Amino acid sequence: MAKDPASLVREEIRALAAYHVAPAQGMVKLDAMENPYGLPEALAAEMGERLAKVAVNRYPDPTAPALKRRLREAMAIPDSLDIVLGNGSDEILQVVAMALARPGAVALAPEPSFAMYRLSAVACGLRYVGVALRPDFTLDERALLQAIEATRPAVTWIAYPNNPTGNLFPRDAILRIVAASPGLVVVDEAYYAFSGGETLLGEVGRHPNLLLVRTVSKLGLAGLRLGLAIGTRDWTAELEKLRLPYNVNALSMAAAELLLDHREVLEAQTRAIVAERGRLEAALDRIGIARFPSAANFVLVRVPDAPRAFGRLKDRGILVRSFHGSHPLLEHCLRLTVGTPAEDDRLVEALVAAIA
Ligand code: PMP
Repeated sequence: MAKDPASLVREEIRALAAYHVAPAQGMVKLDAMENPYGLPEALAAEMGERLAKVAVNRYPDPTAPALKRRLREAMAIPDSLDIVLGNGSDEILQVVAMALARPGAVALAPEPSFAMYRLSAVACGLRYVGVALRPDFTLDERALLQAIEATRPAVTWIAYPNNPTGNLFPRDAILRIVAASPGLVVVDEAYYAFSGGETLLGEVGRHPNLLLVRTVSKLGLAGLRLGLAIGTRDWTAELEKLRLPYNVNALSMAAAELLLDHREVLEAQTRAIVAERGRLEAALDRIGIARFPSAANFVLVRVPDAPRAFGRLKDRGILVRSFHGSHPLLEHCLRLTVGTPAEDDRLVEALVAAIA
């Protein structure tokens, strides 16, 4: 018998495509919802000094009390709820999927949504079921409730706001989904910083099957790889058993502690991004590009020919994300991360030429 991956790796893994990250050397990078600003020099220098003092010969403290305290402050997480740290919220999604992957278990999500919901479910042996949004990307609540009834999912993923569409589903509909679900509902608030205060954090603890996921990535700290699950102790205690003991490294912990102590810097950048989103949307309207409403740090647009527009933008040194071909509802859609005003001016100018 052959001892190669084709005969040894699970069929459903071989059928997957790895999460795609495009090379971006030297490009205006508007493809991954990063904060474009970076740290002020003085704060970066302070971080360097702080990191120099980290005892890298020691394993990090996995209970991370100092970091958790700052996350609680920064995100107004009540003491009644517990936190599980992840190496990015990606890892939290995987830990949740691992915990719930009973034989035959189903993972459900509206589609299109974040690609890792499907990937982490399939990787852990869950059967993934996607329920299409309406063509305008609003939630088809009836279809979702029917799918919940039919498949009895162990987990339902809801991104709030949704990626790549940028919109917020109605919170009442989400709460009805929580109430109707026999399994866990994970509300993923990766983009909460841009949602104008919309959050379901206040609902966690009121429902036995609701877990919240957050990340510091979109706050300007994507490189640290730090995400978190927020839930009641009965859930977090189970997830803790699957979290690798030292999944968040000592340098990331130290950097996050310092930078959350200076979170006014990140919050000012976030406010600038929200204001810039409005300016970008107005510019897109002016040049006549169809766009969808956004409560996040990106704007989904539909152009006449997405592969061509994507290529032309790339030729001009601008990297966005094309979703054309990834889902029928995303025909000719590009996702534009909000950049700095200068980057967005370049983007808009290039878009005019790209769709001509
Ligand atoms: N959830 C959503 C909805 C996302 O869009 C992303 C990143 N694109 C993540 C989670 C993962 O973010 P991270 O692993 O950087 O925390």
